[in-house]
Amino acid sequence: MGNPTGFMTISRQTSTELPPAERIQNFKEFHVPLHTDEQQAQGARCMDCGVPFCQSGMVLCGMVSGCPLNNLIPEWNDLVFHGHWELAVRRLLATNRFPEFTSRVCPALCEAACTCGMATGEPVTVRENERAIIEYGYESGVIRPVPPPARTGKTVAVVGSGPAGLAVADLLNKRGHKVAVYERDDRVGGLLMYGIPNMKLEKWVIDRRVDVMKAEGVAFVTGADVAGATGPAPADLTAQYDAVVLCCGAKQPRDLAVPGREAQGIHFAVDYLSGVTRSLLDSAFADGRCLDAKGKKVLIIGGGDTGNDCVGTAIRQGCAAVTQLEMLPCPPAERAGTNPWPEWPKVLKTDYGQQEAIAVFGAEPRLWQTTVKEFLADENGHVRGAVVQKLESKTVDGRPAMVPTGEEFTLECDLVLIAAGFTGCEGYVAEAFGVERTARGTVADHGFATNVPGVFACGDMRRGQSLVVWALREGRDAAAAVDEYLMGYTNL
Ligand SMILES: Cc1cc2nc3c(=O)[nH]c(=O)nc-3n(C[C@H](O)[C@H](O)[C@H](O)COP(=O)(O)OP(=O)(O)OC[C@H]3O[C@@H](n4cnc5c(N)ncnc54)[C@H](O)[C@@H]3O)c2cc1C
Ligand code: SF4
Repeated sequence: MGNPTGFMTISRQTSTELPPAERIQNFKEFHVPLHTDEQQAQGARCMDCGVPFCQSGMVLCGMVSGCPLNNLIPEWNDLVFHGHWELAVRRLLATNRFPEFTSRVCPALCEAACTCGMATGEPVTVRENERAIIEYGYESGVIRPVPPPARTGKTVAVVGSGPAGLAVADLLNKRGHKVAVYERDDRVGGLLMYGIPNMKLEKWVIDRRVDVMKAEGVAFVTGADVAGATGPAPADLTAQYDAVVLCCGAKQPRDLAVPGREAQGIHFAVDYLSGVTRSLLDSAFADGRCLDAKGKKVLIIGGGDTGNDCVGTAIRQGCAAVTQLEMLPCPPAERAGTNPWPEWPKVLKTDYGQQEAIAVFGAEPRLWQTTVKEFLADENGHVRGAVVQKLESKTVDGRPAMVPTGEEFTLECDLVLIAAGFTGCEGYVAEAFGVERTARGTVADHGFATNVPGVFACGDMRRGQSLVVWALREGRDAAAAVDEYLMGYTNL
């Protein structure tokens, strides 16, 4: 630690965000990073506290504290402070193969666990330091294709190109195995590409990484729905490759079993979000091939991150109104004084979509403790409204539950987006490979192996819907398991 008093003398400074009214004019990223000198000063705020919870990734009281990738945060904070950017890149890549993704979309579990944050109320800007390091890596040429010096003669097929698939492919290729990634969609990236909206993660960031991987020898086959109509059959893959890794995500959406669900104009959130991004990338919306919220009264079922992404997207399209139903009560604005951990229980965060809704409509779109009871359709069968019921917390059979209060009201809407969570992976791939699944719809846990010899699984498909940072961790651990299976030992 070069600056022992930095945490007392330097204040936390983050990137500026374009004002909501300005950023909703387009789908571009809206963070303006700090100048290099300012970022170095932020590195000086790291106390090197000796108990780096930030990098621990430990489960405490049932929740993970710190970075699941165990990023060596105090070490690279110090390198940033001293301006040793190239060393910082190498230190960062030692644990996180794709910091350009996490530094844009990770909820920064590290910052919630930062000792400096507990001491001063202002955690170190770990995520933005990470972004500055990796962007230096690309700009300076430190990140460039480095194919493995030798090949092992082993081959691996990776099914699915989300962050988990990319991580496992990258590491196994670096180890010298020949890797091919099969992707059902027309572009590589999974939910990074067709889930997370462009304003949170511009898609050239994914293409830039994929280009490096291609130049290092990873093959990508897009439009290949393995076990489906447009891709190879499982038997072909297991015959052709020494190992297969399933990284197909957990995209099975939770539906709503309420009267009127069959009305037109009711869609799943990820279908909406992916359609918007595809049309943006294909033609800057000229093809008109996505759902358009322009002029519509949008109702979003689900107050979580996916719902918030729908809010931000619908506002950019020019919706006339947006409302979001959330079953749970509003979290407290601040952590209770008796709570030793910064975010436990969770505190209310004003997400970018909420900020934008407040700027445009003057109010948060979220209605807490509500759910939909019924959809109403017009004479053409198109949704025109929803009966919303209010909920209260009660104990039912000894467990906490949200139950109807009996109070109801009707909301007008002509576009409904269901963002009510996910129920595991789409079953056809696991079934076709003969891979066991759990009651949660995820692949059964045998480490990263499955019940089928030579077939492995990782990411949301194994863990259930989670975060990009966890998908990368899963990819890292799965790569080590596959390597050991192929070589009898692993150095990954
Ligand atoms: C709307 C939305 C926003 C999110 N925002 C964030 C965020 O801001 N920050 C964050 O950390 N996390 C976020 N997440 C969660 C995060 O995106 C996921 O946890 C992560 O992408 C999971 O990675 P994965 O590789 O396991 O699966 P996925 O990213 O789902 O990738 C799976 C891939 O497998 C492919 N596939 C499936 N079946 C086949 C087949 N049969 N053949 C070939 N390919 C197949 C799919 O097409 C897909 O490309 C978000 C999720 C959603 C839905
Ligand atoms: S990956 Fe996420 S939790 Fe880990 S250091 Fe980066 S921002 Fe923090």
